[in-house]
Amino acid sequence: MKRSFYTLWLPTLITSIMIISLFWTMQTFLHHNLAEMLQSHKRSQELTAKIEKMVSSTLNATFLGDEKGFLKTVELSNQIHDDILLIKKDNKYNTDSLFNSYEQLYKKLISAVSYTTENRLGDARMALEEVESYSNDLQMQMSELNNYFDQREKEVEQTLFVIMILSGSLLLFIALFNGFYLIPRRVIRPLEEFAEALKGSEEKYRIVADWTYDWEYWLDVNKNIVFISPSVQRVTGYTPNEFMQNTSLLIDIIHPDDVSKWSKHVSEAHLPNRPEEDAQEVEFRVVRKDGAVIFVDHICRPVYNHDGTYMGVRVANRDITQKIAILDELKEKNRLLDTLATTDGLSALYNRRYFDEALTREVEYAKRTGNALALVMCDIDYFKLYNDAYGHQKGDKVIQQVADVLKATFSRTIDVVARYGGEEFVILLQATPPAEAYKLVELARENIVRLGIEHKESKVAPFVTMSFGVVSCIPDLLSSGDRLLAQSDKALYQSKENGRNRTTLLEC
Ligand code: GH3
Ligand code: MG
Ligand code: MG
Repeated sequence: MKRSFYTLWLPTLITSIMIISLFWTMQTFLHHNLAEMLQSHKRSQELTAKIEKMVSSTLNATFLGDEKGFLKTVELSNQIHDDILLIKKDNKYNTDSLFNSYEQLYKKLISAVSYTTENRLGDARMALEEVESYSNDLQMQMSELNNYFDQREKEVEQTLFVIMILSGSLLLFIALFNGFYLIPRRVIRPLEEFAEALKGSEEKYRIVADWTYDWEYWLDVNKNIVFISPSVQRVTGYTPNEFMQNTSLLIDIIHPDDVSKWSKHVSEAHLPNRPEEDAQEVEFRVVRKDGAVIFVDHICRPVYNHDGTYMGVRVANRDITQKIAILDELKEKNRLLDTLATTDGLSALYNRRYFDEALTREVEYAKRTGNALALVMCDIDYFKLYNDAYGHQKGDKVIQQVADVLKATFSRTIDVVARYGGEEFVILLQATPPAEAYKLVELARENIVRLGIEHKESKVAPFVTMSFGVVSCIPDLLSSGDRLLAQSDKALYQSKENGRNRTTLLEC
């Protein structure tokens, strides 16, 4: 408004006022001239009439002896004299010749009058003839004067007309200039450009807001929805309108088990005066319109306008159902991988890799806690012969059965039972004194015997038996896992040497 006033309306106003004032001044001046001229014109016309009257009254006085006519002639003659002076004063018109003719006429009139009174009628007639001739001359000059005034009148009228046309044209030009150039350039185009820019900007923000893939919304300070993205329908099944009409729908769709989690989040995060970069995140489940349950990652932050006024919360909700499912699947696979990496496939016991790590860990732990640590190494007796007699597959089955007995016998969660390789097993017993270890191992050995798996090729019994080597150490004397292994192996060797199907305990 301010800009258009200075660039458009003010110059137009000033130019128009100037043109109108100029026109007004010229018109007033010319009118004044015209009025004067009309006055003079009128005077000259009256003068003509007076001259005619004077001539006729002189003739009457001369030939009819009308004395009053003489007086009238003299009076008219004075008036004519004054009128000629007035015309001379008011105008540029040269009245010298008019005066001259008038004086001649006047003289001749006087002469005619005096000849008449002297009764010199012949002279009087001659004088009157000259009067007539001067009178004609005077009338001719008067008609020239009248023509002059007519001409001047026309000139003034033409000038006025030209000024009017010029002023009108100028005003028309200003109007056209404003209408076709100034207003379109200074007002309409900037307005159009502004409108275009506004439209573009509006379109840009609409696209930014409406085309978000995630479900986004903005709650004002009174928790009313200011904006909700159309993607809410993709995520929840409800349309943006349904949310606008019922604000509590935002809470109603939260899974009942997650409502308290949500309430806790709202009480902490949806508060004014929090720093604007302080985004708060919470995961909860949503019950969709079709009843399906989805997982949503909700992240929100406070909104402030340009002058720092709190404007509510801006929220982005992402459907993470698929991500959660993939994560669960990954977790399960990781768990499986862990199991596979630490488990022996045939016996389902821990494998050697796991055992090696456990041994190092448990030795260190025993050293720290001062608890006794026992290591058992065992081996199926004459197993080669068993394979030879019953086949490899049956041999595998025996390995599984033996493994199950060992697992069942050493059943504490802290016990580590592992397949060390082939038909050899190791057992790590934490916080187990030698006597107790020996007792447990003997129980295991007996349990294997009790399985009664036929082994007719065995040289120690008609069934499958196992030899055990046990080493139990007090922590102070524990040096390393390798040393412990070597000692248990030694104990096992002694059991084999001493006839198999037995347990040898070594203490260190
Ligand atoms: P000892 O009483 O001295 O231990 O005699 P052994 O025959 O048991 O000992 P040896 O070391 O001579 O033989 C071990 C046999 O164990 C050889 C091999 O065929 C068998 N064996 C090792 N691993 C497996 C397995 O995974 N499955 C089966 N079926 N047999 C296996
Ligand atoms: Mg062996
Ligand atoms: Mg063996």
